[in-house]
Amino acid sequence: MPARKSNIIVSKFGGTSVADAERIKNVCSIIDATRKEARLIVVVSALGGMTDSLLEAIRGAVTRSKEPSEAVQELVDRYERAAHHLLPANDRSELFAIVNHYWAELGELLDGIFLLRECTPRTRDAVMATGELVSAPLLAAALDANGVPASAVDAREIIRTDDDFGEANVDMPVTYAAVRRRFENLGSEVMVVTGFVATTDQGVTSTLGRSGSDYTATIIGGALEADRVDIWTDVDGVLSADPRLVPDAYTIRELSYIEAGELAYFGAKVLHPRTMRPLVARGIPLHIKNTFRPDTPGTLITREGRPSGGRVKAITSVRNVAVVMIEGTGMAGVPGVSARAFTSLANEDINVLMISQASSEQSICIVVSQDDADLAVRTVTETFELELSRQDISRIHAIRNCSVLSAVGDRMRHQPGLAGRMFSALGRCNVNILAIAQGASETNISAVVEEKDVRPAVTTLHTTFARRENRAHIFVFGAGGVARCLFDLLRAQREWLSTMQHLDVVVIGAANSTEYIWSESGIPPAEVVARLDKEGTEANTRDILRTLLASKVDRPIVVDATASQEVAAIYPELLRRGIAVVAANKKANSGEQARYDALKHAQREGRAPYLYETTEGAALPVLTTIRDLVDSGDEIIRVRAVLSGTLAFVFNAMSSGARFSEAVREARERGFTEPNPREDLRGADVRRKLIIIAREMGLRIEPDEVKLEAILDSTFTDGDAESFMARLPQLDGDWAERVQTTAASNKRLQYVGEVGPEGIFGRVESVDANSNFGILSGTDNLFVFETRRHEGNPFIVRGPGAGVETTAGGVLSDVLIAARTMR
Ligand code: ADP
Ligand code: ASP
Ligand code: MG
Repeated sequence: MPARKSNIIVSKFGGTSVADAERIKNVCSIIDATRKEARLIVVVSALGGMTDSLLEAIRGAVTRSKEPSEAVQELVDRYERAAHHLLPANDRSELFAIVNHYWAELGELLDGIFLLRECTPRTRDAVMATGELVSAPLLAAALDANGVPASAVDAREIIRTDDDFGEANVDMPVTYAAVRRRFENLGSEVMVVTGFVATTDQGVTSTLGRSGSDYTATIIGGALEADRVDIWTDVDGVLSADPRLVPDAYTIRELSYIEAGELAYFGAKVLHPRTMRPLVARGIPLHIKNTFRPDTPGTLITREGRPSGGRVKAITSVRNVAVVMIEGTGMAGVPGVSARAFTSLANEDINVLMISQASSEQSICIVVSQDDADLAVRTVTETFELELSRQDISRIHAIRNCSVLSAVGDRMRHQPGLAGRMFSALGRCNVNILAIAQGASETNISAVVEEKDVRPAVTTLHTTFARRENRAHIFVFGAGGVARCLFDLLRAQREWLSTMQHLDVVVIGAANSTEYIWSESGIPPAEVVARLDKEGTEANTRDILRTLLASKVDRPIVVDATASQEVAAIYPELLRRGIAVVAANKKANSGEQARYDALKHAQREGRAPYLYETTEGAALPVLTTIRDLVDSGDEIIRVRAVLSGTLAFVFNAMSSGARFSEAVREARERGFTEPNPREDLRGADVRRKLIIIAREMGLRIEPDEVKLEAILDSTFTDGDAESFMARLPQLDGDWAERVQTTAASNKRLQYVGEVGPEGIFGRVESVDANSNFGILSGTDNLFVFETRRHEGNPFIVRGPGAGVETTAGGVLSDVLIAARTMR
């Protein structure tokens, strides 16, 4: 950040933002809003497509396929149409008086080209500059007409370059001084500067290269130590890939200068590669925003960016390159072969994009622009004449129609194996790799492929490596009802989550009790269960734990939809390593206090979310409620609850006249009980839930401190489910009597759990038939919270306390909370 605020913002609008009158109006309103923040310098490109039309006009003149006057007239018509929609007649004539001499000059230049049938780089720059020279006065006039005082500035007054036409090099000291002088008295009037154009010290027009207006903006920003430079364009920011190749590319929120520079150098057209340079010294932030969606956050480029820890942020491509191959068995051990090749190319002013040497040293690949291929082969051949005659080098040739693909992100060099993964990902989609360069730079790994493979290659690399900043990866233990419903929900919600929440939940694996499947690139939720059946690999929980710990996916979340003690036992290791856990399994939280303490300790250490709302009352907000009360300083005096859906069902059925054994049988048939209903009737589930509630309230408690009234007598301790069911009618008489007695006083029986000053217990209670506890039906749960704040007027959470669908919904909601927390 600049130490002192200069109170200056530089805003650059690209050609796409000023393509027609409608868009220019939109730009005027963005400028009007920005000038309220600070003094404002605007840099503007040629109207969208005009630079290309100018190049086309040159071609037309060189080949004499189009009359210069006709080409100029087309450009003028388009320009004047835009002006017509933007300006009243008077302003229009004023503007045309200014720009007419640029059009006249353009006509003369094109006539000259037509005559000579050739165009030097110097003349080409002079022609191309016309686009910006006329667009700045138009935007300034449009601003004026909209009540925003503005004047146009010809950047040739302030930006000085050498005579390397086509992409000239800026003389920074001279330019900075000129910029400062020019804007010394900058006030509230908006300055509209032509992008892209400059002059040599001889006063000859030069340009900064295609997309050079970005650079113009940051040069001015750097010279004036602007508070910020904004680049307004037609996409939401810097995207993870070229959106024309990868339609689901997404916006990268933050980048470092180095990453952005690398991205631009390796083909991301959204920025000129030199754009970041002037910002580095002062750490001036660069903001890329969408003119059409000014409210979206865009991409922020700063010195630090947001480190990705060696992960790939974007995939880029440079088209139209050629690979110059130097091949031969005699190169091994001969030092300096690549250095000599390099020097010879530099002497010819040929820019080398990339260089790569096979580890066998039997070939060297040098990547150059396709236009330079012939010259490059000729130069290198001359340099190695001797080696060629001795057959140390057998062949020097160029492979044309290639592209360079790059994976860009910080600390890429520290990712061993990344190149290998890149190879195999491309191999899987049959893309042939001609060369690969790793480690040349800290921030990218590049590969050369044939032009025809660019689209599939970029798409594959994007899917494999580019990590959405808000992508969460889940691994699911359990393949029963809850897991299946969760996969259904993930499939159904995918679109919504992605568009509304910008969240992509990727299933990277799942396990049943004996096997698992794993794929870091994601398994479609609809296929998980079938693939687990078909292609599952045998593995125990510890094996899976190792795989999970070794994985490097973003936002890993383990979902436990089992009732397994073994799975519960691995939570501490997961949490300690920053892997979130979402549990529907009650085992981990309801064991010995010491183990619970260790679990919470691991969670704090790994700062990983640990969520288990569905262990209590399925998806009902029970634990969240307790947590919110405790966190906000309320004191919970007592929680009373019907917290077993199974027991609630049995007691409800008895109140409606069913015999005890019948009620249990029906509960079992409808899937509300464990396979052996004895487990439910013994109260193990009630015990666990009471412990979880108590601990959430901050109490320390061992499982045997929970006092439960037995529903079964001691003769029902063992035997299988069938014999258990067969013996149940023995208890019918006793229960019938209890039910009748309570009914006589307009009461009914309910199994109620309680955590409060009197202890932690569960028991059969007679409750008023029309009290909250009395009117429950089905498997509904009810929780009554008595707190200091709600003294005398307890509040209630009531609803379905069981069911795979509601539970799966609750699990998904915990997954989303975990994903957001890990952002
Ligand atoms: P402007 O006229 O605003 O300067 P450009 O056409 O120069 O706009 O640059 C924006 C275009 O760059 C986008 O419309 C997009 O098609 C293209 N592009 C290529 N790669 C990327 C990328 N990684 N991120 C964003 N845009 C990209
Ligand atoms: N008008 C120039 C181009 O199209 C410069 C720019 O837009 O930045 O490349
Ligand atoms: Mg551009």
